[in-house]
Amino acid sequence: MSVEITASREAEVGGLPVRRALPRHDRRTVGPWCFIDHFGPVGEELADSMQVGPHPHIGLQTVTWLLEGEVLHTDSIGSEQLIRPGQLNLMTAGWGVAHAEAAQPGGTGSHGIQLWVAQPASTRNGAPAFEHHAALPTLELDAAVATVLVGDLGGTRSPARHDTPIVGADLVLRPGTSVVPLDPAWEHALLVSEGFVDLDGETVKPGQLAYLGVGRAELPIQASDNARVLLVGGEPFGEAITMWWNFVGRSREEMVAARADWEGHGERFADVRTTLSRIPAPATPWPEPTIL
Ligand code: MN
Repeated sequence: MSVEITASREAEVGGLPVRRALPRHDRRTVGPWCFIDHFGPVGEELADSMQVGPHPHIGLQTVTWLLEGEVLHTDSIGSEQLIRPGQLNLMTAGWGVAHAEAAQPGGTGSHGIQLWVAQPASTRNGAPAFEHHAALPTLELDAAVATVLVGDLGGTRSPARHDTPIVGADLVLRPGTSVVPLDPAWEHALLVSEGFVDLDGETVKPGQLAYLGVGRAELPIQASDNARVLLVGGEPFGEAITMWWNFVGRSREEMVAARADWEGHGERFADVRTTLSRIPAPATPWPEPTIL
């Protein structure tokens, strides 16, 4: 089986440099996962540098997973939740939601991963929702402990909502080889958050995404020193998606309509309680429709 290793793109979110592993021009999704940003680690002096003011989402779930630091989430459905390492924030946008994220000062620094999950046709126009999970189930592997954020790994199931078959798991690896059970009907990818690992003889480091494809019943991960990785996967997403800015939909028209609702303070996106400034939508890259 082959491992396809690609470098992330450098980007910036709320003042902090990030490594964007997904989407790429040649790979939009891994299962339903459609966006992966790895931020930090940065030290104590930059612990609160990620300040993301109110912005809208449609058609996706945001998954926040911290390795270091604390972030305060507020949203347009009234949620206010501080998240710490080892906990999960899961926001379902559905038809529309807006939120803000403010990294908190203090602590040792900031380090984490932000991901999006594309919602299927059956739920993508539904109501927005927010969940916080202070504790998540774990699975002991040979030389690793896996925490299941979302979905199912080797029969260990996260209590978090999921709308299509999916897995998202954080693996803390000790030196040695750990064999991770996978569903061969699903596609998977691995992101290294700390240290480095070997997969099928190929070394994978932070800033890279290792795409594993479908057809694997298990994945041996070799670590020569302590390492930490995020495994994502799921049933290949059967719907072609359109992504623009913070929106996931099926057409440019939907993107344009969501943008207009955000810019026009439409009722789809209610106010978010925060002192941070609202983020204006960029211009769409498509020609404006001509109205005669
Ligand atoms: Mn967001």
